[in-house]
This record gives sequence, C-alpha cells and structure tokens, in this order.
Amino acid sequence: MPFDTIAIVDWSGGNDRGATPKPDAIWLGLTRQGEDAPPIYLRNRHVAEQALTDLIETERAAGRRLLIGFDFPFGYPKGFAQALTGQSDPLAVWDWLECRIHDKPKTNNRFDVAGDINRQLGQGVGPFWGNARPNHDVPGLPRRKQGYHNPFPDMRACETRAQGSFTCWQLAGAGAVGSQVLMGLPVLNRLRRRFAGQIAVWPFEPLETPVTFVEIWPGLINPAVKQAEAQGGIRDAHQVRLLARALAHLPLPDLQAMLTITAPEEGWIMGLGHEDKLNRAASDRALQPPPLRDDCFALPAGVDWTPVDEALALLHDRLHPVVGRASTPLADAQGRVLASDVTAQRSNPSQPNTAVDGYGFAHATLPPGDPVLPLVQGRAAAGVPFEGAVPPGHAIRILTGAALPTGVDTVILQEDVNAAEAEIAFRAGIKPGANTRRAGEDVAAGDTILQAGRILTPADLALASATGLSTLPVHNRLRVAVISTGDELVEPGNPAAPGQIFDANRPMLLALARQFGFDAVDLGRVPDDRAALRAALDRGTEQADLILTSGGASSGDEDHVSALLNEAGAMAEWRIAVKPGRPLALGLWHKTPVFGLPGNPVAALVCTLIFARPAMARLAGAGWHIPQGFTLPAAFTKNKKPGRREYLRARIRDGRAEVFKSEGSGRISGLSWAEGLVELPDGPANITPGSPVTFLPFTSFL
Ligand code: AMP
Ligand code: MG
Repeated sequence: MPFDTIAIVDWSGGNDRGATPKPDAIWLGLTRQGEDAPPIYLRNRHVAEQALTDLIETERAAGRRLLIGFDFPFGYPKGFAQALTGQSDPLAVWDWLECRIHDKPKTNNRFDVAGDINRQLGQGVGPFWGNARPNHDVPGLPRRKQGYHNPFPDMRACETRAQGSFTCWQLAGAGAVGSQVLMGLPVLNRLRRRFAGQIAVWPFEPLETPVTFVEIWPGLINPAVKQAEAQGGIRDAHQVRLLARALAHLPLPDLQAMLTITAPEEGWIMGLGHEDKLNRAASDRALQPPPLRDDCFALPAGVDWTPVDEALALLHDRLHPVVGRASTPLADAQGRVLASDVTAQRSNPSQPNTAVDGYGFAHATLPPGDPVLPLVQGRAAAGVPFEGAVPPGHAIRILTGAALPTGVDTVILQEDVNAAEAEIAFRAGIKPGANTRRAGEDVAAGDTILQAGRILTPADLALASATGLSTLPVHNRLRVAVISTGDELVEPGNPAAPGQIFDANRPMLLALARQFGFDAVDLGRVPDDRAALRAALDRGTEQADLILTSGGASSGDEDHVSALLNEAGAMAEWRIAVKPGRPLALGLWHKTPVFGLPGNPVAALVCTLIFARPAMARLAGAGWHIPQGFTLPAAFTKNKKPGRREYLRARIRDGRAEVFKSEGSGRISGLSWAEGLVELPDGPANITPGSPVTFLPFTSFL
C-alpha cells in the first residue's frame, strides 16, 4: 500500500463465451497511476490466467505495486475448510481445489467436484446445490434447493451484511457465484505458486508483497454502475472499470480502513460498509470538472477602463480547467496538456553503461605504469550484455550503450588504445569511472519528470518513453467554437454586393485555435439577428467548451452578442485600457464561456492573443500562459500618451523592431506583414530610433 495499479476482475464460472465481447464472460478493469484503461474482454479462464500472468509480470518489471480484485469469495462459511481439508486455513481449500478441478475452455468438472464434496461431507445432501448440466445427474448434487440439507452456515458473516449477495453454495441460476469460486480459486492458487512470495491474499496474509489479491463485489457500487449504464455499454465492463477507478482514487486513509479487517477463515468483501465512499470515488462525474461560476466574468464596480494586467489577473483567478481527462498513448500525446504530474517508472540510464566504444576494466586492479591488459573472450554491446564477470586486471571489448559487465567500472576510448588479438595497451592516467554513465544519473525511478499543465513536446515524449511510460494522462482537447457576426459579411468565394465584405475573422480565429492545439469548431457566420445568433450559441454550447464570436460585442443597436449575453444574465462588458481594442463581451451561455471579440480584424487578433489565449490555456488545463518577449532597439519614432497599453504590428529587421507604416485598425495587410507585436507600456513613452522596446513574436503566443 498504496498501489500504483488497480485491476478488477469480473470472474465467470461458465465456459468459453467466444471472441465478441459479451456479458458474463470475464472482464478486467485497469487503472494505472490514476489513469483508466478501457476494460479488457477475456473470453475464458485460460485467456484470463494468461492475461493476469502478463499483467503481474509487467507491473513487477516496472516496479509498480499491484492490487487485483476478484468478484468471488476467497473463503467458505465457517467450518468448511476444516471439514474438507482438516485445517481451518482457507488457503488449504485453494490447494485442495487446484488438485481436483479440471478446466478446459469448453468443458470442466465443477459439478462433479461439488457432488464429490457433498458426498464426502453431507449427511445425505449438501452443502452445494444447483446442478445445471442438462441430461446429466450428478450423484450427491441436487438440481434445486428443495429437500436440501446444508451442514454449514448458508452465508459468510460478510454476506449477511451485503444486501443482494448470493451464497457460495449455489452453483447455477441467475446471479449465482458458487461456480465462480470453484473455478476461480484454482487459477488464483496457480498464480500464487508461480509468483511465490510476491502475492499476498487478503485478509489471510500480511500485505507486505508487491502484489495483493482482494475479494471485491461490484454490488457495492451499484449506484455508480447504474448511472454509467444509462449511457449504454456492457454492465460487467462498467463494473470493473468503475471499481478499479474507485479504488485507485480513494484517499489513502479510506483505502487503509477498508483493508484493516480480521476474517481469518471466511474472508471479507473489500469496501463492505464503505459503499458511499466507493460510489463517490467511482462516479464518472467526479472526473468532470465543475462548470465555471456564473459570476466569473464580473468586473469590480466603479472602474472605467481596466488596465491590461488587472484584466489578466482577473481571468487567471476566475477561470479553471473545464475539460475532462483521459489517458493517451505517447504516439498521440504531442501538443496535449498533461493532466497530472508524471513520475519515472525506470531510471535513466537503468543500468551503468558505457558512453563510448572502447575497452572496460576495473580501475582499482590496473597495474602501475602504462597498463597492458589481457582481453577476455566475448564483448558487451548495447542490448547484448556480457553475462560473465571480467576478472581483475583484465579488459573487455565494450560498445557504446552496453551495460557495464560485472568487474568493469571504467572504459578507455578505443582511439587511446593499442589493441592486439588478445591484449590491449594504453597510457597510464585514466580516471576511475571514465567514459561511463551511472545508473539514474539522468533521472531516478520515482522522480517527477513532467508536471501537470505542461504542453507536451516531442522531447517530453522521449523522456517519458525512456523512463518506461507508454501512456500519459492528458486533458481532453479544449473545443473552441468560432462564430462571425454581421449583416455585411459574405463567405469568400461568393459574390459580394456593394457594402458587403468577406468574412476575414473566422478563418483567422479557427486557424489560431488550431495553432494553440485546440479543436476548432466552425459555427459559421450569422447575420445581425438575435434568433439566428441564439441558435448558433446554442449549437456552440453543445459542441464546444468555449465560444469565440467576433463583431457585435459593443452596446449599439446591432450588437447582438452583448445583448444576448446580457439577457442570459452572466455577461460583463470588459472595457480594457488597450489599443487596438473595443470592449470585450465576456459571458456564459448555458455555462459555456463566450469571448465576444471586436469585429475589427486587427483588434480581434490582438485581443485573442493578449486575452483569449491565456484564458483558453487555463480552461484547457494548461499553465498560465505568459508570452516571452525580448527587448530590442526600435527602428521607429512614436510619441505615446499615457492611459492605455498599445500593441503595434511589428517585425525584426537588422536587429531592430520595425512597425507597420499605418496604425489604421482596418489594415489587415499589416497583420499579415507583421511577425509579432511591439508592446508599449500603459504609461507615456517617447520612442525614437534606438529606444529599447519589447517585441513579442507571434510564436511566443503558441
Ligand atoms: P462590429 O464590432 O460588429 O461593430 O464590427 C466592427 C468592424 O469590423 C466593422 O467594420 C465590421 O464590418 C468589421 N467586421 C466585423 N466582423 C468582421 C469579419 N468577420 N471580418 C472582417 N471584418 C469584420
Ligand atoms: Mg457588426
């Protein structure tokens, strides 16, 4: 404890269920390091036993502690173990059954074994009942419960408390578990022997091993399963998925409380009596972040023009991630936002190895003077280690990346050696440990290698892979919907009447959203018409996590974005002291944040980069985004008045910042000409050629 990986198995007493996923086969749910894997369908017990073996091997190799839950009793009611085996130890029953149960995909002898036990222990009949084999009576095993006599209690102590649980004596019929126990315990016993000393069976053995088997019962999380089932899918698959998630997400003290049980003979159902906690931890909704608060865009009263930094601080404080999380293979992880801190599963390097091609030896055994060392037979290469030991005073041929063989701690570069068939000679003076890499000198197993909120780079994927990770916890991509508003707008490619203009903002904003790593959703163009805009916003709340509109955001007659957001009751007009920029209309449309950008393309771009970009990063789960600019001499003259911050379209030529010839806010050509923005401070500034100015390259916003 605690466990890195939780696996939950929904067992089955029956025969092979075929290749297509079906209920009542075996299902395996897995949550590894907090990330859920899709449930795995296992058609029969042979496949399941192999899958469990592989799982234990994989987790052991990665140094992860593993808990596996099985949904059948680990013990029988009081008295049975003693009567059957002569010992009250339930694990003696496991051994007993393993010797007698024969299990093939299509056939097994469970009813015969139950009949044998009944004849051995019952006075007449009992304890088992429920022979389901058509046309085949089993001596000693009744088909029904009528006339049945059981010398043992019908239920274990835990079952009398688990509402709706079944007795392990019933072998057939809907919900029966008796066959699962008979067929499951031999498999678990084989695994125990195969991984001797590494598996503890709860609650019979001390939990001091890397792998723990526990008894679970999905009935405990029925409410969470019902909720998930309403979305469709196979019940068993939901059960194992949700129970694995629940145990993985439980606070440690709760987990400990669930495991602190004394039930030496009958065993116990893990989590019994803690159903509320389990259901809470299992709930699908728990992984969805809460929506934004209705007042998240409210502005302090009485401020006329909000300075840029204050506006940004408000956005930083009021917004939080609105996207769920998932686990993704490394191949799909580039550009995604990391959802939680990630630790190295393995050290890098995992073993001491050589950094060069050359010859390895133990430094302490070098003779005095210029050494001449006999070579041992064989060599060590990357991936092909030398299995033997290198004797003192000997050397071995070794190639870059090879693990240092036993008896080697230093490597001499082949260029510094005179090599003959059977010996090498080189000059004295090499330092101990030369040309080698220590295990873990780069990263030690367990180190945090990547932090939550990071946007994953190609190099991050190298680091994750090198340290043993194949998947990463990421946030779902933020979905950004874009709407253009205005009666004057037409679609490029269509005829434009006098007074009409082509929609410039939508292609720009959709492309920006994609450049930022988000999913862009094109909601088209709407005229200055409230019903049309309302319908577009409604589509936006269904298809996206954030809506960007352009145009119609001021407070004129045709400013329908602000009018509608106002009507929805969660809107604020952000008058920010910035140029270029008109008021931004920020609000919520049915809980979905809306950024109402100015229609003017220059202002739309600047407001997107300066305000919407960091806000979107926050909603996407990424860290707060501050564009990294640098100071350059200006190549222009400007006398700036105090009162608002200004952004000029700019580029670097000859090491100086040039600005576009016109500040006209309708000049889209200047946006395309520019390679970044010059940021002039809120206060006054008198810029002449050579004055230092801050340049923000467009790439610094990505
Ligand atoms: P508005 O914010 O709606 O008052 O629009 C301000 C200016 O931006 C007007 O000249 C609009 O025609 C122009 N404009 C609005 N939306 C767009 C757009 N999608 N593409 C190009 N210009 C636009
Ligand atoms: Mg307009």
